[in-house]
This record gives sequence, structure tokens and C-alpha cells, in this order.
Amino acid sequence: MKKQFLLLLCLLAPMRSYAQSAEEALTQDEVSDHIRFIASDELRGRKPGTPGIDVAARYIAHHFETYGLKQAPGVDGWFQTVPFATTTPPQTGSITLGGKTYTQGDNLLTRDGQKSILNALVVVAGYGWVDEKSGMDDYKGLDVRGKIVIVKMGTPNETSPGAAFSAGRKKKKFASDRGALALIEVYDLAFPWNNAKNFVGRRQASVDDGLRFPHFWIKPDDATAFLQQNFGNTQATVNTPGVTLETFPSYNVMGIVEGSDPILQNEYLMLTAHYDHVGVGRPHPVVRADSIYNGARDNGMGTVALIAAAKALSAQRPKRSILIVALTAEEMGLLGSRYLADHPVVPLNKTIFNLNIDNGGWNDTGLITVVGLERTTAAPEIKRGIADFGLRVIDDPAGEQGLFDRSDNVSFATKGIPAPTFSAGFTAFDEQIMKYYHQAIDQPDENFDFAYLLKYCQTYTRTARYIANRETPPFWVAGDKYEAMGKSLYGR
Ligand SMILES: [Zn+2]
Repeated sequence: MKKQFLLLLCLLAPMRSYAQSAEEALTQDEVSDHIRFIASDELRGRKPGTPGIDVAARYIAHHFETYGLKQAPGVDGWFQTVPFATTTPPQTGSITLGGKTYTQGDNLLTRDGQKSILNALVVVAGYGWVDEKSGMDDYKGLDVRGKIVIVKMGTPNETSPGAAFSAGRKKKKFASDRGALALIEVYDLAFPWNNAKNFVGRRQASVDDGLRFPHFWIKPDDATAFLQQNFGNTQATVNTPGVTLETFPSYNVMGIVEGSDPILQNEYLMLTAHYDHVGVGRPHPVVRADSIYNGARDNGMGTVALIAAAKALSAQRPKRSILIVALTAEEMGLLGSRYLADHPVVPLNKTIFNLNIDNGGWNDTGLITVVGLERTTAAPEIKRGIADFGLRVIDDPAGEQGLFDRSDNVSFATKGIPAPTFSAGFTAFDEQIMKYYHQAIDQPDENFDFAYLLKYCQTYTRTARYIANRETPPFWVAGDKYEAMGKSLYGR
């Protein structure tokens, strides 16, 4: 009898320990250790192009390896290299065209290109825009080989300054692909020229497209009259010392938890959080602090949640596979996520959902705020995952901030993947949030709530588990602005 009882105890013991889920097994000590490291002063604010962020990358990869994650196909170990280039415009340079000389710093802005002296015929090509989908092509019937292309700023559909500025990158490629020697955009936006010059006329970093093509903006006195003139056989002379270029790599850190279901494991739930921050800057104006922007809330706690999810989901694997990615360069304009969306490591149409994390801070630790909660059919799993640990959930309370379209989730949403952002509990973008948001005092000190960090990691991981175990993939709710993209991505 006694023996049998002991045997029964032995059989029960492992069952009891299994009853504790991998989320519940996470401890406050371990997540506190992670954030104290990730947001430490020694990592100097995790700015891309500095050693601090690469140490963070190594730390994340080390944990993925320890937990037995698989490396993603086609990347270098745990790291997807995102190539960056920093360009600084020159102090001098000129373009002479139709008897007028445009001078760098005055009515000429050199955007790209190496040292060159050119003398060639000019050709006007509308906006210099090509859109394969609609068949629209400003180069139709034009031979621009060996010539200097002159175009209007913006695109046929977009003349907002931001869109017009970023369209230049593609326009540069269109001109280069067609054998042109240089591209000149004629500035005719309502946005003041001097502001535009200040905005883009300084040192700037972006993802390196590897294209070293002479690209300029000029500001004639009357842009409309300038564009309407007949250039005939006009030649232009370009003389530029070129931009100063520095290149550096940064990394998206990634690993895969293979799904336990032989069929569903071919589908992926993608978990993302940016691990970069803004580096070292000005000290806080009021609170005595150093000038290191530790980014504990933004987005150290998201990075820690990814590490916690990697541990718990690999310990008890859900049915679908999980692609976990710590993204670089969110603070520079969502650059790491955009790079991944354009260079996916698993097919986008096999990526059923993206549960992104980003954080400004919190003003309610009884709460999780999910930006885009009600925009996908995964809302029930998200609510259940959060309720499991006694927290409440609300959708974006600060619609005026446009948060859904301001974090990495939007890089995947625009491809059609349902992609809300899981944030620490905030009920408004109020003083409590702004006190820490992009401030040097956003650090893992006595004002940081480590108990809440644990719950945050647990609710996030549990939510991911529920979504990965769903019978059918979630989707956008009917009428969402990304629904059509989703339909075309998944062929629904
Ligand atoms: Zn952030």
C-alpha cells in the first residue's frame, strides 16, 4: 500500500510541474536582469551604427541560441544585415543650365552622387515616375541615355512634402536604370524651400541602396515657367564634389520556434519589437540625469518580451511556427521592419499575423493597450491572453496620434499582414507618458515597474500562443483600410 502510494506520488510529480505553463514559469528576476542589461548605460542608447546596439543584438541572439531556436533561412546566423549609408551634402557645387547657374546651399541641393563633372543634353520627363501596376511611365518614348533628366518634384498622385522627398529615391533608380547621367528635380512644392533645405541638407542616414547616382534639387525663381520652357538642345553643366558617404551595417536579430503541428508548422506567427533607440543626446532639462537615452520603456521592455516569448514558446511549442524578430532602426523611420518586409525570410503569405510591440510608457499597470485591437479577428485571443494574468485591455485611446501607422507593424500591415501593436497600458498620451517618452530618464531605475514588466511579458507570450494555436488564421475586420492588401496577399 505504502509502496503504491509512493509510486503514485512519483507519477504525479512531473504532471504537477507540467501543469505550470511556460508563461507562469517566467520570473521577475530574469526579466529584470534582461532589461537592466538591454537598457544599461553601457549600451549607450542602442543607436544603429554604434557598438552598443550590436552588443544588444549579440545578447538577444545568445538567448535565442540557448533556448534552441532555429536560425531563419537565408540570413547570416541569427542576423539579417541591414546595410546603411550616411550621406553628408557637400559645401560647394553648381549646375549651369539655360544661362543660369544654381549654387549649392543657395538654390541647389545635392542629394546624392560622387564627385563628377558632366556636360550633357537635358531631357524633361514629367515627374520621372514609373508605376508598373497602372502602366504609367513618364519615360515612355524618351531616350535618356547619356543625358541629364529634369523632372518635377513628387509623383502624379503625391505632392505632400514627405512623399515627394522619399519618392526621389525611386526616381533616382528609374533614371539610372534607363542610362541617364544625372537626375535634377525641380522644386515647386508649397513647403518653403529654406525649410526643405534644412530638413534634407544635413547629414542623413538611410538604408543603402548601393546606387551612387548624381541627384539634385534646384529651385528656379518660377518653377512653373521653368518647366514649361522648350529646352530644345539645351545642355547642362554639372560640377559637384559629391556627397560624403559612410556605410555601416545594422542587424535584425531573428530566430524560429518550429511549430508542433506537422501541417500548421508551415505557417508563421511573426513576433516583432524594435531593440534600437536614439543613442546619447541632451540631458533631461529638469530631472538630474545623464545624457544616455536608455530606452527602457521604448523599447527595452519589448525586447525583453521577445526574449521571454522565445523561452516560453520553445519550452512549450504551439502548433504554428513562430518567427521572432528584434528589429533595428525603428527610431530612424521604421527602417529595419521595412527592410524585412521587402526582404522576407519566410514567405509573407505564410506569415499569418504580426504581433508587434512598441512602447512609449504606461500610466495604468492594470492594463495592456493594444493599438489595433479591434481591427483584426484575433481580438478574442488577445483579450483572453491578457485576462489570463488579471489585466484589462483597451484599443488605441489616442487616435489623434496615428500610432497604428507610426510603428513597425505598419511595414507589415501595408503588405496585408494583420498587425496590431501590443503596448504597455496607457489611457491617453498624457503627462505621465511624456515624462519618459524619448527622454534620458526612460531607464530601469526605481521608477520602473519590474512586476508589471513580468506581467507584460506573460500576457504577450500567452496571447502569441493563443493566436499560433488558432484553428484558422486571423484576418482584418471587414472594411479595414488594409483589408484589400490582405486579400491580395493571401488570395482570399
Ligand atoms: Zn518605440
